[in-house]
Amino acid sequence: MDDTPFWTLDTRLIHGQGEPHLEDGDLVPPVSFSSAFEHPTAERLEEIFAGKQTGYLYSRLQNPTVDRLEKRITAACGGRGALAMASGMSAITLGLLGLLKAGDEIITGRHLFGGTFTLLDKTLPPLGITTRFVEAQTPAQAETVAGPATRLVLLEAIANPALTVPDFAAWRKFCDERGLPLLVDATFLTPVLLDNQIVQADVVFFSTTKFFSGAATTLGGIVVDMGRMNWETRKDPGLADFRKAKEGAYLAKLRRRLMMDIGPALSPMSAFLQLIGMETLPLRLERQCANALAAARHLAAHPKVKSVVYPGLPGHPSHALAAQQFQGRFGSMLAFTLPDKAACFRFLNALKLARRSTNLGDTKTLALHPASTIYGGYWPHELEQVGVSEGMIRFSLGIESPQDILADLDQALEHV
Ligand SMILES: *Cc1c(COP(=O)(O)O)cnc(C)c1O
Repeated sequence: MDDTPFWTLDTRLIHGQGEPHLEDGDLVPPVSFSSAFEHPTAERLEEIFAGKQTGYLYSRLQNPTVDRLEKRITAACGGRGALAMASGMSAITLGLLGLLKAGDEIITGRHLFGGTFTLLDKTLPPLGITTRFVEAQTPAQAETVAGPATRLVLLEAIANPALTVPDFAAWRKFCDERGLPLLVDATFLTPVLLDNQIVQADVVFFSTTKFFSGAATTLGGIVVDMGRMNWETRKDPGLADFRKAKEGAYLAKLRRRLMMDIGPALSPMSAFLQLIGMETLPLRLERQCANALAAARHLAAHPKVKSVVYPGLPGHPSHALAAQQFQGRFGSMLAFTLPDKAACFRFLNALKLARRSTNLGDTKTLALHPASTIYGGYWPHELEQVGVSEGMIRFSLGIESPQDILADLDQALEHV
């Protein structure tokens, strides 16, 4: 490792920071399906269990294929370490629980991914963990609700589905003034658009289901310790038990306590597919961002479309922040509004190329009516809170030819 040059991101997504070559010369990593691992002596097992030696024991704790994924994503992000899990939601759940106890408060944005919103709004409150939902573009509103119980800030880098973008420099200052860790769900950014010199997150979450798998093959999620925070000296609940891991105490707690006790381990087969998927991530994302910009501009000029939400359009409230923070790219998601739900359904049912599906970050272009699907069952005030309207369509741009995507939009809009 020492004499390996620090490769650029595109290279690290394929080779990590120098991955071990396999004995038989395989270029593709093997899938280690074993749930448990044996060792030559009882002494060695004892030492591994005690953490005095490294080695695989049981795949809930660590598995060679999952390990390879964790190391490669860590290398791609330039982080300290990572823990992969069975889904993005489990990564966020364990990532939060690693720092919280009953009585603690989270500050987060009011525009959130549906699962994260209900986790914070419904699942955690009975456990005594509550959340203040604030405007996330600036910390102005957070200043008024932060108090002694505030324990951490969770932000979505581009908040689904309103696509608002936080001013990360301002939020970093807000966190530093209060000694709070900044946790960022960077699923929409991927390591390609994430520049942590700018975002300055302590912890990053990715749902690897999306851009890492790339072709909607598998569920997965990952918590990345970005290496800014020295967890050894912090008083977050339960970290003291993991002091042996020094500044890496947070991930040690997640792996050895929460993953052991709760158990949302990533399947090695899923890790394998995500390792393959991530190799082409920059190429896919480049095309997806370009397709999204082209579609956003096209829709904005279309007489049947009431409004378009895309941070790449100058009229979007977060346009300047997105331009500044994400290397001139604006992601692959957009939303637009038609007069009402019936118009949305006519449009969706007329699509020939775009698929009607809830996923995102796929090679295929996907379309969805959020109000009747992901946010179905929400009260009107909740819909308003997360920024979803009855006439809204969400689009996740794939890597197809832009010409065919625009033609599909046009022909479907004729049915509106
Ligand atoms: C999909 C998604 C999640 C949840 O990930 P799963 O893998 O579906 O559990 C969390 N945050 C964002 C921004 C997402 O898009």
